[in-house]
Amino acid sequence: MSDYKVLLLDGIDPAGVAIIERCNSVEPVVHDKISRDQLLAIVEDADAIVVRSATAVDHELIQKAKQLRVIGRAGVGVDNVDVDAATERGVLVMNSPGGSTTTTAEHTIAMLFALARNIPQACRTLKSHQWEKTKFKGIELAGKTLGVIGLGRIGSEVARKCKAIGMNVVAFDPYINPDAHLSSGLELVDLQHVFQQADFITVHVPLSETTRNLINKNTIAGMKDGVRILNCARGGIINERDLYDALKSGKIAGAAFDVFETEPNTESPLLELENFIATPHLGASTIEAQRKVSEDICRQVCDYLLKNTVEGALNFPRLEAGQMERYRHFVDLATRLSTFIAQICDGRMQTVLIHYSGEVCDMNLNYLTSVIVRSLLVPVLREGVNLVNAMHVAKLRGIKVQETRLPAPENFTNLIVIELKTDVESHRVSGTVFTDKLPRIVNVDGYPLEVVPHGNMIFFTNNDKPGVIGGIGSVLGRCNVNIAGMHLGREREGGKALALLLVDNPVSSDVIDQFRQIPNILSAKVVHV
Ligand code: NAD
Repeated sequence: MSDYKVLLLDGIDPAGVAIIERCNSVEPVVHDKISRDQLLAIVEDADAIVVRSATAVDHELIQKAKQLRVIGRAGVGVDNVDVDAATERGVLVMNSPGGSTTTTAEHTIAMLFALARNIPQACRTLKSHQWEKTKFKGIELAGKTLGVIGLGRIGSEVARKCKAIGMNVVAFDPYINPDAHLSSGLELVDLQHVFQQADFITVHVPLSETTRNLINKNTIAGMKDGVRILNCARGGIINERDLYDALKSGKIAGAAFDVFETEPNTESPLLELENFIATPHLGASTIEAQRKVSEDICRQVCDYLLKNTVEGALNFPRLEAGQMERYRHFVDLATRLSTFIAQICDGRMQTVLIHYSGEVCDMNLNYLTSVIVRSLLVPVLREGVNLVNAMHVAKLRGIKVQETRLPAPENFTNLIVIELKTDVESHRVSGTVFTDKLPRIVNVDGYPLEVVPHGNMIFFTNNDKPGVIGGIGSVLGRCNVNIAGMHLGREREGGKALALLLVDNPVSSDVIDQFRQIPNILSAKVVHV
């Protein structure tokens, strides 16, 4: 009699099923195709469900599965899993993204060669009985410069393979530790340099607010004439309309896409262009990748059921019963302090020092540290980082996280201090919760303040000279932005000072540019908490 039952759906590759069969006390129940009603009838006593992309693991199914502890997705995307409903029930959701890295990198390389040598166009012409030799003259890759945007799992693999075929590789990723790539001979440059130097540009970033339309008519204007562009990451990173115009005009000589803004997509105007080639989201579609993601997810699920070890989790079970209620205000404080400091600090994160003192030390500090690290990384990695994997992701990225407990501070009953060091600057922010349970910033970079961080804020550093605050007020007045609160701190009269303004409306980048024109303003940054 088995202790655990695992439902394996959607034609999970047998290699993963074999892993489960080898685990004592875990029973695999395989249904490659099953009706919704049948599934609802058998799910009640399942401890785990493993799916690909077909089965909807929705609220109803999760509620029905009374014994469910883990949902595994063989692959990356969890669009078919209601992660919130699972989290609510304390059910872990896992995926297996690493299994498709090689395959997607290889697909990118295939697209690169196809683009350089016009292979899809030449094949199509030959199949229509035309022998075109001169029309499809290509270019060599060796000696050309490839610009890689996003140097994570897939981007690094593409870069390594392209170095091996004799390409020069320049890369942009503002969030990785460059030391980790020192030995690879890759040159890390800023984005503008990628655009200026590259003969081929390939994107390997997640789709986020900062990467949506990363390549658009303005950035295209800064590229070499005749550049070629690839997207095997996510639709929307390259603006399709602007790409169309640039392919038409010849500014961009060719483009290769595996992904589109909307999918499936058989109607895109891009498909009418001779210098545009595409595949229908085949990046991860190989026999080996399907096998690998199946093996990975089945091993992860067994490890969780049998050893309680967590890998590849996208959510996190709650704190022990009652802890969340008791300590919610500290979780809120930790989230706001880290969200704040992440936005005032420029550069690549290198070290995070967290000091806890007073009552906060009574709670599970591992949880709180994960909350802080997750909030620091969310702007960079989006759904790639969560409470379960935050520390692991930080380690992989070469970010040192140190946590200390200090004796209770003199003036507060509890205090959290976060020091963030990047390759260009460092900041330190301290916060506390008073009896009213509101989170307060009480010190920034050594300057005492008292502010409840929320909504839209502007953080200034300046020389403490007359006229600065007046200048800020006039810019905001001109731009019709109302000040809801102002907090000032300075080291000494006439020395360095800082100001934190709470404003009623979001502030655009041209308002910030105007601040920078005010004499004695040293920096101005928009913060949203
Ligand atoms: P990853 O998380 O390992 O790497 C992403 C990298 O992008 C990180 O290093 C991050 O620092 C960097 N980044 C984030 N924002 C950036 C920005 N604004 N500028 C530059 N770099 C930035 O992810 P991965 O596994 O390498 O996947 C890369 C992409 O490929 C993702 O979009 C993923 O969804 C996609 N993908 C597509 C397929 C497919 O079938 N075509 C298959 C797998 C993955």
